[in-house]
Amino acid sequence: MRRPEMLIGGTLRPASDGGVLETPNPSTGQVLAAIPEATAADVDDAVAAAGAAFPGWRRAAPAVRSQALTTLADVIERHADELARLDADDNGSLLREMRRDVDMAVFYLRYYAGLVLQLHGDTVPSEPGTLTYSLRRPYGVVGRLIPFNHPLMFAASKIAAPLAAGNAVVIKPSEHTSLSALRLGELAADVLPPGVLNIVTGTGAGSGDALVAHPDVRRLAFTGSAATGRAIQRRAAEVGVKTVTLELGGKNPLVVFPDADLDTAVAASVRGMNFTWQGQSCGSLSRVVVHRDIHAAFVERLVETVSALRPGLPDDPGADTGAIVNTGQLEKVLGYVRLGQDEGARLCTGGDRVTDGALADGLFVRPAVFDRVDPRSRLAQEEIFGPVLAVMPFADADEALEIANGTSLGLTASVFTRDLGTAHRFAEDLEAGYVWVNEVGRHVPGTPFGGVKDSGIGREEDLDELFSYTQLKNVHINYGR
Ligand code: NAD
Repeated sequence: MRRPEMLIGGTLRPASDGGVLETPNPSTGQVLAAIPEATAADVDDAVAAAGAAFPGWRRAAPAVRSQALTTLADVIERHADELARLDADDNGSLLREMRRDVDMAVFYLRYYAGLVLQLHGDTVPSEPGTLTYSLRRPYGVVGRLIPFNHPLMFAASKIAAPLAAGNAVVIKPSEHTSLSALRLGELAADVLPPGVLNIVTGTGAGSGDALVAHPDVRRLAFTGSAATGRAIQRRAAEVGVKTVTLELGGKNPLVVFPDADLDTAVAASVRGMNFTWQGQSCGSLSRVVVHRDIHAAFVERLVETVSALRPGLPDDPGADTGAIVNTGQLEKVLGYVRLGQDEGARLCTGGDRVTDGALADGLFVRPAVFDRVDPRSRLAQEEIFGPVLAVMPFADADEALEIANGTSLGLTASVFTRDLGTAHRFAEDLEAGYVWVNEVGRHVPGTPFGGVKDSGIGREEDLDELFSYTQLKNVHINYGR
C-alpha cells in the first residue's frame, strides 16, 4: 500500500510515531493509501520550520516570491492529469470536474503571483518635517485548514495569497482527501525554500487542533463546516488573540419569479445545486423558492431533469454525478432524506443509495428533489452537503425574501427574474455574501467570495484575500529640526 509522506521543513517524512490513517476510494471501497496521522510534535515541527523560513521569505524580493508561485503553478499544470486522478479516486467526484479544479488552482496561483506589487501602503499628509506612511507586514506563520470537496484546488489556491504576502504556511487538508495535497508537497519541495510551505495530515481533533492551538500561529484561515468554524474560533481564543477567517457552509436559496424563463430557471436550479459534485459544494443552491403560479410546472420539469441524472464512476464520461466522499457523509445524506419524509415534505425523486451493478460497492446516492418543504423544517434549515434539493413555493416578493433570508447561514443566493426592480431589490436585500441574478454558481475571479451570518468572516479569491494575510503598520518620522 502507498504511504505518501508529509512536507515538513523541506523534508518528506512520515508521522513521528508512524501513525497512519487509511484512505478509501469511495467509488469502489478499496483502500488507496495510508496517509500520515501527524502528532502534535509533528505539527510543532512544521510550525517551527515555517517560523524559521519566514524571515527569509518575507525579505525575498516580491519578484522572487511571484516567480516561485508561478513556477509552482507551472509544475502543477504539468502534473494536472495525475493530480485530478488522485482527487477523483480519493473523493469520488467526476474526473472531468477534478481536472477543472486543477485548472482553477493553477489560475489562482498565477493570479496572486501577479498581485505581489499591490502589497503597498499609503502616505498620509502630516506636518512639515514629518512623514507618515503605512506598510503591509505579513503575519509570520499562517495555519490553513481545508475541507474534502475540492482537495487539490483548495490545497494549492488557498496557499497562494498567504505565500504571496510573505507568510510561511502550514496547511492541513481533510483526513478524507489528503492524497493530492501530499503529492503537492512532493512537487513543492523542489520549488519553494524549505519550511515556506509545510503540509501536515491527520484528523481535525488531532493535527487540526494542534495547529489551531499553536501559540506561534497568529493567523488562521479555515474552510469547512459552520460548526467546526465556531469551534476553531473558540479554541483559537483560548490560546491568544488570533486573526481567524472562516469560509463556512451554506443553505443557499434560488428564487424563481414567474417572469423568468422556465426552462432556463430549471436548468439553472440543477446546475446551481452542483449535483456534479454530489451537492458537496458550499455554494450549492439547495433551496429553490418558486412562485406559486409556476410552482407545479417548475417542479414537474425539475423532477424530470433530476431523475435523468446518472451516478457513475469518476472516469465514466456519461456520468452526471459521482460518489459521496465517505460513509459518515453518506449516512448523513440518507438520514436527511428520511428526516424530510418524516417532516412531511414530498420526496419526488431519488434519495436512495445505488445498491446494484458496477456501483454497488461505492457510496452512490441518486439525486433527490423534495417538494413542499416547510421553510422552518430542518430539511430547509440545515446544510446537508449532499445531492438533496428542497423546493418551496412563495406567494409574493416579501414572502420569497423572508424564506430566502430565514436561515442562520448566508453564503450565496440567486434570483431569476426579468424585472429590473425585483432584481435590484433582491440583490440588495438577500442576506448572502455572493448574489447571482439570472445566473448560478459562477465565481468571477478577482471578486470577493465569502459569507455573512453563520457562513463566515472574510472574503477570498480577490485582492482583499491577499491583504487579509497582512497587518498594517504605521510609521511616523520626524525628520525636521
Ligand atoms: P469540516 O469542518 O468537517 O472539516 C474541515 C477541515 O477542518 C478538515 O481538514 C478537518 O480535519 C478540520 N477539522 C475538523 N475539526 C477540527 C477541529 N476541531 N480543529 C481543527 N480542525 C478541524 O468540513 P468538511 O466536512 O471537510 O467540509 C464540508 C464543509 O465545508 C461544508 O460545510 C461546506 O459548506 C464547507 N465549505 C465551505 C466553503 C467556502 O468557501 N465557504 C468551501 C468548501 C466547503
